[in-house]
Amino acid sequence: MVGPPGAGKGTQAALLAARLGLVHVASGDLFRDNLKRQTALGKKAKSYMERGALVPDELTVQMIADRLGQPDAAEGVVLDGFPRTRQQAEALDRMLAKMGAKVDATLYIDVDRDEIVRRLSGRWVCSAASSHVYHELTNPPLVAGQCDIDGAQLVQRDDDKPETVRARLEQQLPPMFEVVDYYAEGDVLNTVDGDQPIEDVTEALMRVVGQPVR
Ligand code: ADP
Ligand code: ADP
Repeated sequence: MVGPPGAGKGTQAALLAARLGLVHVASGDLFRDNLKRQTALGKKAKSYMERGALVPDELTVQMIADRLGQPDAAEGVVLDGFPRTRQQAEALDRMLAKMGAKVDATLYIDVDRDEIVRRLSGRWVCSAASSHVYHELTNPPLVAGQCDIDGAQLVQRDDDKPETVRARLEQQLPPMFEVVDYYAEGDVLNTVDGDQPIEDVTEALMRVVGQPVR
C-alpha cells in the first residue's frame, strides 16, 4: 500500500487485511511500538519521526525483514507504509525472492495535497494501538474521544501538527513518487482514487486484489 501521509493507507490496509484474511503490517505502527517500548530501534528512529523525516533505509528494511520472517506472515501480508524509497522497494524484492515470494500488487492511493492536510489535521488514533484510526469529521468514533475497538482514549499524533505535516510532505513525497515509478516499471502498479468515501475506496481496492481468499 503506497500513498502520501494521510491518504488512507492504514484505514484501507486494516479493512483489506480483514477481508482477505491476511496480516496487516504497518511500518509506522512498528516504529511507534518500538518508541513506546524504548527499544534500541525506537531510540534511533525517534528524532527522524519527530522531524517528519524518513527513518534511514537500513534500520527500516531490517525491521520489516524481521516482521516478515515471523510465522503469522507466512501466508502473505498487506504491507502499509513500506516501501517508501526506491532502495526499500529493491530490498523488499530481494527479501521476498529469498522467501520464494513476490509483491503481487502495489496499491497506490492517490489523494491531492489539500485533502491530505484536511485528513491529517482531523486524525485521531487510539492511545493503545495507533492502527485504530478515526477522523473527527469523516470517520468519527461511536463515542467521542474513545476507540470503538478497545475503549482506550483517542489522541492526536505528535507528527500531525501542521509544521511537521509540511515537513513530511516535503521530505517524503519525492521518494514516494520514485517508488510509484519503480512499481509502474515492474507492471504491478494499480492506482486508486483515494478522494472518495472510505467504503468506495475499499471496493476499488478489492476490485484490484480480487475476492477474499478464505
Ligand atoms: P502516515 O500514516 O502518516 O503515512 P506512518 O505512520 O506510516 O505515517 O509513519 C510515521 C513515521 O514513521 C514517518 O513519518 C517516518 O518518520 C517513519 N516511517 C514509517 N514508515 C517508514 C519507511 N518505510 N521508511 C522510513 N521511515 C518510515
Ligand atoms: P495513512 O495511513 O495513509 O496516513 P490514515 O488511514 O491514517 O492514512 O487516514 C488519514 C485520516 O483520514 C484518518 O483520520 C482517517 O480516518 C481519514 N480517512 C481515511 N480514508 C478516508 C477517506 N476515504 N475519506 C475521508 N477520510 C478518510
